[in-house]
Amino acid sequence: MAIFKEMRLVRPSSSKAFDRRFGLGADAPYEGIYRCTGCGLELALKSGRLFPNVEHPSGCRGAEWQLVVATSRPGTAHT
Ligand SMILES: [Zn+2]
Repeated sequence: MAIFKEMRLVRPSSSKAFDRRFGLGADAPYEGIYRCTGCGLELALKSGRLFPNVEHPSGCRGAEWQLVVATSRPGTAHT
């Protein structure tokens, strides 16, 4: 699970960007931290990068990625 220390540096969002799932080889549409829906493995990606073929723990039942924490910049669609 992604962790942070200072609550003032993050904020919740109801954006649908956080509901989307992305498969292996897809382009990451948002820069941020993603987690595998099958095992909870996390990785950070810049937008436009392909989701990499990383090794998941045994028992992972899927390799779809879900945005957990997004970077924010003025004008980004997910904020
Ligand atoms: Zn996994």
